[in-house]
Amino acid sequence: MNTPPAIRIDNLVKEYASPGPGEPPKLALKGVSFDVPQGGIFGLLGPNGAGKSTLINILAGLVRKSGGNAEIWGFDTDANPRNAKRSIGIVPQEIVFDPFFTPFEVLENQAGFYGIPKGERRSEELLKAVHLWDKRDAYARTLSGGMKRRLLIAKAMVHSPPILVLDEPTAGVDVELRRQLWELVTELNREGVTVVLTTHYLEEAEQLCDRIAIINHGELIADKPTRELVGMAREKIVAVTVDKDLTGPIEEPVFTKAEVIEPRRLEITYDRDKASAGQVLALVQSRGYAIEDVTTREADLEDVFVQLTGAG
Ligand code: ADP
Ligand code: MG
Repeated sequence: MNTPPAIRIDNLVKEYASPGPGEPPKLALKGVSFDVPQGGIFGLLGPNGAGKSTLINILAGLVRKSGGNAEIWGFDTDANPRNAKRSIGIVPQEIVFDPFFTPFEVLENQAGFYGIPKGERRSEELLKAVHLWDKRDAYARTLSGGMKRRLLIAKAMVHSPPILVLDEPTAGVDVELRRQLWELVTELNREGVTVVLTTHYLEEAEQLCDRIAIINHGELIADKPTRELVGMAREKIVAVTVDKDLTGPIEEPVFTKAEVIEPRRLEITYDRDKASAGQVLALVQSRGYAIEDVTTREADLEDVFVQLTGAG
């Protein structure tokens, strides 16, 4: 029997009202459908303005959808909004806190909001998990940006939801903090939490996520296991060092691009369905050059992303 998805998005549409007279309404989601399987780390990728936050804010109940359906942990967000909401913890893109509450109070207030009895609250455990226990009595406004992000993650987990959603958690965050955030997310996932994150750091998504959906201009353009998505990149890149200065670019029908990057170094992009690395090298040799060094680069998620979105 198939496990039901953690989240089911079905033909989701969002039209934002016209911002002013003479301005058209904005169709931010044009009928997006996909499932987030249980138990994994799911990446929702797309360029700025693609509709990622809109989709997540619909799940969070912060934005009203114009059409379609969403199910969270089997609960329809229209028919069963309370249960749907209880099944998900969301860390929004924007950091907002009341600056006069302490981290401990932030979590206690949130627990109160969900009606969790005092004896069942997890404030201490969660503050320890996000390494903020020593800051439990500091005002939120005195915390660094990184501490605030970690506090938001703890806040999203107060009601022990089976799903945690993070909207651009590492945008504008330094390398060390990013590493810490990913450790925390990976740890929560290991404990059984289904994680959904949006990011535009492709390398990160490639390393962390087992499945990736890509949206662009409000439309779903890919939804695949990460490995399959990376495998979709058709282009391969080979850099060749030759024995004498190149007199000019070498053009061949099977090369997508051939660039002289140093006097004796040439970078060739080719479609791996149309040629092999061996053929590429043979073509260079046929021009009278001896090959002294070769490096090849596998296409990565960045390449797929550029191909699919037509960006770059
Ligand atoms: P992303 O998170 O992928 O960057 P968003 O969901 O924030 O994308 O935005 C999708 C599109 O909807 C953008 O064109 C954005 O300008 C527009 N948009 C977002 N929020 C609003 C709003 N409150 N009113 C009108 N348009 C909006
Ligand atoms: Mg966004």
